[in-house]
Amino acid sequence: MLSFFDGLPRFIYIPQPLLLGCNNESEILVVGDSTVSRIRNELKNLDEPFNPHLRHQRLLGGIKRDKPENALPSIYQELRKGFAEICLFEDTGQCDGKIIRAHSLQKRIFKDHAKNGHVYQFEPFTGRHDADRNLWPDLIGINEATTFLGFCKRHDSQIFSSIEDLPFQNTPEQKFLYHYRAFAQMYYDKAYKFKIIESAFSNLAKKFSPQELNSLAKQIYLNKHDANELKLQKSRFNDQLQNKDWSAVEGHVFVGENMPDILTTNFFAPRKNFHGQIFQDTKLLSPLKWVSFTVTAADDRAIFLLCGDRGCPFLREFATSFREMPLQTTAVITYVLCTFENFIMLPRWWESLPKNTQKKFVNAFQGRFYRRELPNTCDWKLKEIFS
Ligand SMILES: [Zn+2]
Repeated sequence: MLSFFDGLPRFIYIPQPLLLGCNNESEILVVGDSTVSRIRNELKNLDEPFNPHLRHQRLLGGIKRDKPENALPSIYQELRKGFAEICLFEDTGQCDGKIIRAHSLQKRIFKDHAKNGHVYQFEPFTGRHDADRNLWPDLIGINEATTFLGFCKRHDSQIFSSIEDLPFQNTPEQKFLYHYRAFAQMYYDKAYKFKIIESAFSNLAKKFSPQELNSLAKQIYLNKHDANELKLQKSRFNDQLQNKDWSAVEGHVFVGENMPDILTTNFFAPRKNFHGQIFQDTKLLSPLKWVSFTVTAADDRAIFLLCGDRGCPFLREFATSFREMPLQTTAVITYVLCTFENFIMLPRWWESLPKNTQKKFVNAFQGRFYRRELPNTCDWKLKEIFS
């Protein structure tokens, strides 16, 4: 069941920076603004060891600020309208109509570790780039960090009360809810946030040749493919939530003794395990196995969760590969830096790193290649716990 896109990876994230007209590297146009941060471009050549001399990689990571006139007004017009405000639970009715800025990571667990209300995050459009066009993380306000517009106030507080209001006790319900929230953000990105890019595309199609828009067209196609696949998952999740069928989700939980230096939550189809070995072919259009990867905290102690459908063999293999890692904290940080965009870094940790260590992390984020050797900078003393 392959299409003409065979050979391209299916996208875990929507493209960011948004690349247009990739028929010629020298004419790549990059448009967008901070509101589409954390949407990540994935092109087939990205999954290779980072090499600063590879022009393709450098262009992908950089914004061509020297050619602002190339930015396309129609995209900006769409972005100015803002992202869709919906409640993923609207099918059930009873929404209170007020969509809130839902946090995919609970602000309260990291706000005391912020610096003047800010934490570090990579912001592709507003962030600083160095002379090599590498993006560096910037301080972001904790009210903005890791938020999305996917729930009404009532449902956000009702659904997640067991992880928002209660201490972490590794209950099946809590694991389900962490997994579901990771899913919700990813589904929101693919089903709703991406609409801005789709509607801009129809305007662009009037002005640019199909060849110039080829790359964007592929990304829109693949995003729709993922969104359709995840829509089935959404209705399963909603049924399970209403029936309190918490056992539908299986979770592997590791708890530390220290506050984690990086916090993240992602719903994704892993291609590589912690050893860096490919264990799922994400280049196929057949349905993938999706898992969630969450680093959060309770009482300033790290909690690392790997969750997925009960009995999912990919989840178990993924968790097994993690247990085999000799430096588990470094393994988590490395996987996050090389794979995800939706994460924050605590200022105390990031600012304590020597410049050349920071540079290695920046390169890892830019290169998107796992497994890369990164410095061992901290140890949260993770230990597996069982419910
Ligand atoms: Zn609602």
